[in-house]
Amino acid sequence: MDLNFKRRRLLKTGAAGILAAATVIALVSPSKKKDAKEVTAINSEQKALLNPIENESAVRDNLHKVKHFNSVFRDDLYLSAEKQLVFKTTLNRILRVKKVIGYGNFNLVSFDDMLLYAHRFPKIGRFTQAELALIDEIFFYDANEYGFFGNKVIKDLTSRINKKETIKIAGSGHYLFQGEALAKFKQLKKDVGPNLILTSGVRSVVKQLQLFLAKLEASNGNLSLASRSLAPPGHSYHGIGDFDVGKKGFGKLNFTSRFSETDEYKRLIDLKYVDLRYTIDNQVGVRYEPWHIKVV
Ligand SMILES: [Zn+2]
Repeated sequence: MDLNFKRRRLLKTGAAGILAAATVIALVSPSKKKDAKEVTAINSEQKALLNPIENESAVRDNLHKVKHFNSVFRDDLYLSAEKQLVFKTTLNRILRVKKVIGYGNFNLVSFDDMLLYAHRFPKIGRFTQAELALIDEIFFYDANEYGFFGNKVIKDLTSRINKKETIKIAGSGHYLFQGEALAKFKQLKKDVGPNLILTSGVRSVVKQLQLFLAKLEASNGNLSLASRSLAPPGHSYHGIGDFDVGKKGFGKLNFTSRFSETDEYKRLIDLKYVDLRYTIDNQVGVRYEPWHIKVV
């Protein structure tokens, strides 16, 4: 099918790496890009070359940003102006996929399936080449460049989640991986109490992409700011086991520092088997997330 051919060609470019640097650079605005060269945002290889004093200042700079994750910094990188329009249509099309297949199913949907739904449902409409190219660029862009230093845990844009390896948690609209994640959640419920709920479980690359694009929209195209609150697609441990918990009835406050004031949090943090993914002093570049349980 024509659609498959085009996608394969696109992905070949991506997987080869992936995209030539010149193409990728167009993702961010050139003036901001220049600024970025001067600042302390560094990748691990560069880190090794720094002297201890410079390294220390980079660590401090990073901690400062993590603490003030919602602030705009001088060296933040933005989506380039010419990508803004295609960015909007891409996000809206992905949101239409979500609407058609439903919130729960959307958590697990793969890139290939998303394209098929778009192909089949006129109310979604096919992704344009420009939209697919943008998704490709965002997925394969080096997130270190805009200040996110976490691992890329899923390197394939088309990776699939095997639904059989997951289980839907009643009343949550979310899934957990069978095995360690499920066992940990069950134990947590037992030890913390019935008010502990699952607020986000397994997320496919597409789900993480949608969340990241929505965050990017709310951040006025600031890639650095968006990535201080949310791992870019491919970098989320929700794709391989981690999950988020909250307190029943606490709503959106579950995803704020207010969660750390709840009894549920106080109880869970005392448990020996609980580790948080993004601690208060993390060097990944992500805000403190007292709700995000490390599984992997
Ligand atoms: Zn999380």
